[in-house]
Amino acid sequence: MNLLELKDVTKQFGGLTAVDSLSLSMEKGEILGVIGPNGAGKSTAFNCIAGVFPPTKGEVIFDGQVINGQKPWDLCKKGLARTFQIVKPFASKSVLYNVTVGAFVNTSSRGEAEAKAIDVLKLLNFDDKKDAKSSDLTIADRKRLEIARALATAPRLLLLDEVMAGLRPAEVDEMVEIIRFLREQGVTILVIEHIMRAIMALSDRIVVIHFGKKIAEGTPETVASDENVIKAYLGD
Ligand code: ADP
Ligand code: MG
Repeated sequence: MNLLELKDVTKQFGGLTAVDSLSLSMEKGEILGVIGPNGAGKSTAFNCIAGVFPPTKGEVIFDGQVINGQKPWDLCKKGLARTFQIVKPFASKSVLYNVTVGAFVNTSSRGEAEAKAIDVLKLLNFDDKKDAKSSDLTIADRKRLEIARALATAPRLLLLDEVMAGLRPAEVDEMVEIIRFLREQGVTILVIEHIMRAIMALSDRIVVIHFGKKIAEGTPETVASDENVIKAYLGD
């Protein structure tokens, strides 16, 4: 059974069709990359999955259950976690505090949540920064914090929206390693990314979106040489 399935998902904003009858599926343990030019509808599709808003039409199915209209918090409790393209941690709070907030999804005591948070920080080699104020972190470390916070909710499916935007090449490489490592921990991962090199290196499979529609799907090699994909990017 697929862990995630989108069936003809459409999202309209007034007269604008941002996502247009999009279907895709993800197997457990897979890293699926979603790419497409700016404004293609990637974040909108992502938001339909994460429960930010329901699709106008179609079905989002997680673990065999239609989840249209369910709220992010409830989805998170079911094992579907996300990061935000614009990183919004509690800026004045410490790294540990922020990750502990994530861990509260599945725990009820502060001590337990904090212990979980420390485990996650160790896993990401980030525990040396646990007392740092979030607003003092570099962009790369804020992205890492976002991932730590999502990971603390113990997700089965992790949605990543442009976690590599604004990173230097060496930091991109490090993020690729982190994402690979998470998959080894059993997390299924949907990656939306503009940085082609990273998504090509990471993904088992790639879905390409243009004007809200899927225009190609396949292995990184297949989509990279697809005529429609090349045209979509050259026209960007
Ligand atoms: P991508 O993430 O691929 O760059 P988006 O999903 O952010 O693209 O945007 C797809 C289209 O939907 C764009 O034309 C964008 O302006 C529009 N859009 C996105 N979010 C909203 C919103 N909340 N209200 C109105 N239009 C939106
Ligand atoms: Mg986007």
